[in-house]
Amino acid sequence: MSKKNVVVIGSGFAGLSAATHLAQDTSCSVTLLEKNDSPGGRARKFEHQGFIFDMGPSWYWMPDVFEEYFAHFGKKPSDYYDLIRLDPSYAVIYGEKEKLDIPADLNAFKAMLDEIEPGAGKNLDEFLAQAKYKYEVGIHDLVKKPSRSIFEFTSPGLLVDMVRMDIFQSMSKHVKKYFSDEKIVRLMEFPVLFLGETAENIPALYSLMNYADIALGTWYPMNGMHEIIKGMVQLAEEKGVKIQYSAEVEEIEVENGQAKTIRLVSGERISADIVVTGADYHHVDKHLLNPKYSNYSDEYWDSRVMAPSSLLFYLGVDKKLKNLRHHNLFFDEPLGPHADAIYRNPRWPEKPLFYASVPSLTDPTVAPEGMENVFLLVPLAPDLEDSEEMREKYYHIIMDRLEKITGQEIRSHVIFKRSYAHSDFKSDYHAFKGNAYGLANTLMQTAILKPSLKNKKVKNLYYTGQLTVPGPGVPPSLISGGVVANEIIKDYNLPRLN
Ligand SMILES: Cc1cc2nc3c(=O)[nH]c(=O)nc-3n(C[C@H](O)[C@H](O)[C@H](O)COP(=O)(O)OP(=O)(O)OC[C@H]3O[C@@H](n4cnc5c(N)ncnc54)[C@H](O)[C@@H]3O)c2cc1C
Repeated sequence: MSKKNVVVIGSGFAGLSAATHLAQDTSCSVTLLEKNDSPGGRARKFEHQGFIFDMGPSWYWMPDVFEEYFAHFGKKPSDYYDLIRLDPSYAVIYGEKEKLDIPADLNAFKAMLDEIEPGAGKNLDEFLAQAKYKYEVGIHDLVKKPSRSIFEFTSPGLLVDMVRMDIFQSMSKHVKKYFSDEKIVRLMEFPVLFLGETAENIPALYSLMNYADIALGTWYPMNGMHEIIKGMVQLAEEKGVKIQYSAEVEEIEVENGQAKTIRLVSGERISADIVVTGADYHHVDKHLLNPKYSNYSDEYWDSRVMAPSSLLFYLGVDKKLKNLRHHNLFFDEPLGPHADAIYRNPRWPEKPLFYASVPSLTDPTVAPEGMENVFLLVPLAPDLEDSEEMREKYYHIIMDRLEKITGQEIRSHVIFKRSYAHSDFKSDYHAFKGNAYGLANTLMQTAILKPSLKNKKVKNLYYTGQLTVPGPGVPPSLISGGVVANEIIKDYNLPRLN
């Protein structure tokens, strides 16, 4: 059998994962095309005068998923980066004088809950036992399903599991069965915000995220999250993946129902037997393909619930900061009005919630000595107008609060500042409506109800990444690449070399 040429588009976690799986597990020759001049997609980094900024993800959760990824290639994360567990895992700030440091140790965490609400520690045991079960079935089985047919989910064992997995109950109701104190409820509902909706609209299946948070912990790769990408690129190249940067795809040309040629903006044409695209799904569907080959209509895309976009600030501060942890969640304003401004009535929120990360508190390599690297994130509705004035206005809104709550002057010490929002997500990643995290994991956008990993009209065209199965986030994107590679191996009956 002649060697097949696989072209993968996009060097985010999903594209790198798909390309590396195919390069190792099959005899295919794999080329990866990336529009930007560096790898990682939303997890790129940039440097400025000794500050090294991770541009997107900052939370390293589910370390077992990374271990499993590297183990597939006979490697370990420690072959590429040094991982440390953060303790406290993170801080939650409820107001000027109300702050919780979330301890990494489970018993210390339970004691903290008991002090807030007597009996909550014991309830946590029960809550976590269920969450553990969901995590094991969810992360080790469900998320690996390609979701091409309902029959993947209809084995009797799995149907019983679905009920135990709480897919028809909201996360919000589920949490309130165990805890009644407002602060604890908010803390337990926080992890599902990663899934792009509020706890009212996320199935309780995702209390598996609480297991990831509380039991498995919050980790950090020294030198920054981008070290994961660096390791993945090294591994991909070791396996023979040829990566081309500044190689923006302009069209996937289709002949006789097959993607035949990939045409780059530069005019270069690359022939392909199989195409996997890890670029934003909507961009591929609506801009890289002739409309007659799109998988979904404009109406379909417009009716999707997108996960939020974000306004980000990367700051270099010329002094050490106090009263902050590596990860800080600012819950000093109620969630309701902000969630309304993201999902129901899209607009800039009046009192935005925000998150601040200060990785230089853990890692001296990401800022010059005596200085601090600060990353601020305000979740926002997709598709907002993000003018310089609005960015600046919100910078001051959150800085007022940050300075007041932490009791220090910060703005006058900012020696580097870069903002990033919708228009950057669009121009850097072709992100639909400037989304940051893809599609929200609502019940109606889960598993077979997500955009399919296979094109229905173009036989050899597959999709991977945060807009298809299993969903948004670094671990799911890693898994997504492996899932699509397996489907290709099955569909083409390729001999498995590994
Ligand atoms: C601000 C922010 C914070 C986040 N925080 C976390 C976190 O803390 N923890 C976590 O687990 N997850 C987090 N996430 C989510 C996580 O980063 C993403 O889910 C994940 O990185 C998506 O990977 P991907 O491979 O699907 O897509 P991407 O990373 O977007 O990769 C797609 C790639 O395709 C390329 N591309 C697009 N169009 C073309 C074209 N025409 N030709 C060639 N290449 C093209 C893009 O340049 C990009 O490199 C965060 C995301 C953001 C934005």
